[in-house]
Amino acid sequence: MSRYLTDLAAACRKSGLPIQEVPGWRTRGRGPMHGPHGVMWHHTATPDAARGDYPSLHVITRGRPDLSPPLANLGLARSGTVLVIAAGKAHHAGRPDNRARYPWAVGNSDIIGIEIESAGHGHYTDAQWAAAPRLRDALSEHYKLKPDRHIAHREWAPSRKIDPRGLDIRALHSEDPMSTPDAMAMLRDIASRLVVIERNLGYTHDYAKMARVSTRDLPEQLKNLRNRIDTLAARLDALEATELKGTTDG
Ligand SMILES: [Zn+2]
Repeated sequence: MSRYLTDLAAACRKSGLPIQEVPGWRTRGRGPMHGPHGVMWHHTATPDAARGDYPSLHVITRGRPDLSPPLANLGLARSGTVLVIAAGKAHHAGRPDNRARYPWAVGNSDIIGIEIESAGHGHYTDAQWAAAPRLRDALSEHYKLKPDRHIAHREWAPSRKIDPRGLDIRALHSEDPMSTPDAMAMLRDIASRLVVIERNLGYTHDYAKMARVSTRDLPEQLKNLRNRIDTLAARLDALEATELKGTTDG
């Protein structure tokens, strides 16, 4: 079934990355797509001197004399923001050197094209290094793509392409952002261990209350934990000072 990938922004949002929807993206493209069956990664080759977060947006939406727009479906800006540019077919892949190597793919009509803002010397911002695997995983999850469905333009057409230089999209590890339940479990652990220390030191808190952590009023509770640690640290300092005094006096 051919369609414009109007779920592209929703797919990208699963990455948790900041998303910028470029006006008109839902109807931009050279006709509908099918699949998608894969994702192709590129660098823009726009010079570093070009200002802004995603200076290639103009050429991608307007095209070049030799290539009609759009030139990508998605963009990955210097800040790690994902630009949603076109839901329809984009001119990015060109012919594969060896079609037999990619039996699952047609080309632009079933491969999402991502242009990473980079001059093409193999340099990417820290934000882009962190964002790329998250975007990869979000698209894989949403479109049910296996890991090998993420390919570099240079793999598709090694005779004429080098992009994205220095970036092996399948090898990148995504730093697992801690899940909320994991974070809450860790906070609960910290709170209950604090209670034990405080109790041993003779503090008289409402312990049941002190050990409780919930997602509600989380900033307030984090401040509370920090204040209690500060109190304990001050107490420790006082104890050390006393001991030190004892040593010198003795
Ligand atoms: Zn390319």
